[in-house]
Amino acid sequence: MGIADSEPGLSQEEREICETVHSFSRDILRPIGQELDKYPDPNQVIAPESPLWRVFAKYRELGIDPFSLATTDIPPERQALLRSIISEEMGWGDAGLAISVGVSIFPRVLSLLSGSPALIEQFNSPEIIGCWPITEPDHGSDVILFGGKFSEFPGTPNCIAKKEGDNFVINGQKAAWVSNGTIANAAALFCALDLGEGPIGLGGFVLSLDEPGITRGKPLDKIGQRPLNQGEIFFDHVVIPSENLVIKPGGDAVGNDGGLALANSSMGSTFVGVAQASYELALNYSKERIQGGQPIFRHQSVKARIFEMYKKVEYAKALSRRAVYLNTVGPPNLPIAVASKVTATQCAFEVASAAIQIFGGNGLSREYPIEKLLRDARASMIEDGCNEVLSLVASERL
Ligand SMILES: Cc1cc2nc3c(=O)[nH]c(=O)nc-3n(C[C@H](O)[C@H](O)[C@H](O)COP(=O)(O)OP(=O)(O)OC[C@H]3O[C@@H](n4cnc5c(N)ncnc54)[C@H](O)[C@@H]3O)c2cc1C
Repeated sequence: MGIADSEPGLSQEEREICETVHSFSRDILRPIGQELDKYPDPNQVIAPESPLWRVFAKYRELGIDPFSLATTDIPPERQALLRSIISEEMGWGDAGLAISVGVSIFPRVLSLLSGSPALIEQFNSPEIIGCWPITEPDHGSDVILFGGKFSEFPGTPNCIAKKEGDNFVINGQKAAWVSNGTIANAAALFCALDLGEGPIGLGGFVLSLDEPGITRGKPLDKIGQRPLNQGEIFFDHVVIPSENLVIKPGGDAVGNDGGLALANSSMGSTFVGVAQASYELALNYSKERIQGGQPIFRHQSVKARIFEMYKKVEYAKALSRRAVYLNTVGPPNLPIAVASKVTATQCAFEVASAAIQIFGGNGLSREYPIEKLLRDARASMIEDGCNEVLSLVASERL
């Protein structure tokens, strides 16, 4: 049953949910992720015949996401544990694909926060492939550091939504880093708002990406999480109703910290899964590979290294589960979410690197699955905000 194997006290229903997700990760996410990772051209990843679309279809079939969990009578603290295990399992399967289906829910979340029946009807659907455009070509860390206090924002935003009558008119672009950027059909767009006197802060809109005036860049080519599609989104005089503005600048913590806390606590769990995958691969390999006439696991220094990996995975797991718990049962808690993200991504990177060392030369070969995990983990230390910058933002809330 995977990660939930070591979890005592799960009910029959909870065990079945974990089992379903583990099978999905083992049979769909991991093999398809490994296949997509090897495609030399990122256009192949999103081609009509790509197995990427099977991932989205199978994920919909599963019917297990934060929304379906919320409709069960499982109490919130148990839902938090299940959400942790589900995200860990998905990361264990493939980090890039886990992020792709994970970020898809952002427009759905914004539509629910809006309370507007029309927006909920339009966006609260499992058919939505969503994205979260926030990074700009000239403002990466800037939007994370200064999004909430725009008076200090350095330079001009690359994407501005200007109020005109009952509408907002959006012009500009978001960076090539937007996950699902070239395939999403809806966005939770965070960009500068101008109510008539210049940009006043980041606002959060939910919108369809089929609106006239929206175009996309080409899929980004990168070293890690290659199955995750990323690309620019361009806005040329895109007119959307004011009602689509869900998160106003300077609003409450649910709006302003909620997105970052949700993203960071999910990232923490996902990359605990990546660390767990590296640890398991190293453990299994060390029991099979013979050197000095015995499995390398029998050599004391290898054993000690394996235990060090196990220890790191378990403490990142404990912290990330606490982050998901606090952010599920209470209001957004950014410091614990960032602590989880920073710790888990660093842990995933260190454990994958230690695992490569256990694999010896085979660890460097693309025939073995371990070097991919190192590349995927490396990307995570920049993803959703550079770790050091996120720590600066979180420390402001202490
Ligand atoms: C896999 C992946 C997925 C992503 N998905 C999304 C997505 O879905 N949506 C989206 O909008 N973006 C996404 N991003 C973009 C990501 O959020 C940015 O890359 C990140 O915020 C850093 O911005 P940057 O790349 O412009 O780096 P920069 O901001 O240019 O930073 C460069 C370096 O300068 C340092 N630095 C910058 N400012 C400061 C400061 N004030 N103090 C100290 N150090 C500083 C940084 O720590 C870093 O080391 C993704 C990125 C990756 C890698």
